[in-house]
Amino acid sequence: MAVVYNVLLYYQFVPIDDPEAFADEHRRLCMELGLKGRILVAPEGLNGTVSGPIEACDLYRSTVTSDQRFASMVFKVDQASGHAFEKLFVRVKKELVTFRADLPSDPNEITGKRLTPAQWKERIEKGDVIVLDGRTDYEYDIGHFRGAIRPDCESFREFPDWIRTHLADARHKPILTYCTGGIRCEKLTSFMLRDGFTDVYQLDGGIVSYGKDPDTKGALWDGLCYVFDERVTVEINHTDDRHVIGRCHHCGEPTERYVNCRNYRCRLQHIACPECERQFNSACSIACMEAPERPWYPGQPPRESSTSQRTETA
Ligand SMILES: [Zn+2]
Ligand SMILES: [Zn+2]
Repeated sequence: MAVVYNVLLYYQFVPIDDPEAFADEHRRLCMELGLKGRILVAPEGLNGTVSGPIEACDLYRSTVTSDQRFASMVFKVDQASGHAFEKLFVRVKKELVTFRADLPSDPNEITGKRLTPAQWKERIEKGDVIVLDGRTDYEYDIGHFRGAIRPDCESFREFPDWIRTHLADARHKPILTYCTGGIRCEKLTSFMLRDGFTDVYQLDGGIVSYGKDPDTKGALWDGLCYVFDERVTVEINHTDDRHVIGRCHHCGEPTERYVNCRNYRCRLQHIACPECERQFNSACSIACMEAPERPWYPGQPPRESSTSQRTETA
């Protein structure tokens, strides 16, 4: 792989007074640099994942961090051979991660204790902790920390209810949460502490940083890590002790491949083994296999690509 591109993942919780104006200026900067990706701007801060040529990414990082508000922002940097996104989106939102909790969850006021990858691994190995996956069910199903609880949530906003229902007896137990790049755990642990949990920790830098850590080498992670770009998944565990945990949506055999349903009305991203993908003609079900092709008329825009319909940022 010729590495000439980077994929960046980053966030900062810091007040932004005029998110609309900030987003316009930020969009201009990214377009000038030829970056693609998804950037969210909210009154509470900035969250993004972008791809671009290495020099453009370097320039982007130095430009952003020259702003005092983002001086300490941490960028997770991946190597790539091309863009990981088709387009550039810079959007203004109410919250950086849609959480809609009924309690304030400002990580700058209160948030879970941060564990470095080495501390994280040690805590899990010592045992007697609850490891909570801070992501949604389809992310968990392709890869997660060994022994972690799978929250039965399709979207992040379901977490407050889920936690109150399922962890009510664990308010004073050590709870370790993790997510892709760390941003969701900032909100999650902030909420939990406000809600009466007393011993809450978060994996600093998220799974992505854990996978790059030279000491832990991603140990205790099984499967792959779901990412919200065209790569779909990335490798985390670089040790010999690694298990495949994805299961084919059709036959249940172990596999780590994600396929987008061929039916343009469905597009369900599902795990499928090569044989079932062939048999089902890339559809998620028999009904979708038999669904008609998308009609096309002259003058219409070209067909949408097969890119994932999932549009969150990590
Ligand atoms: Zn199969
Ligand atoms: Zn389908």
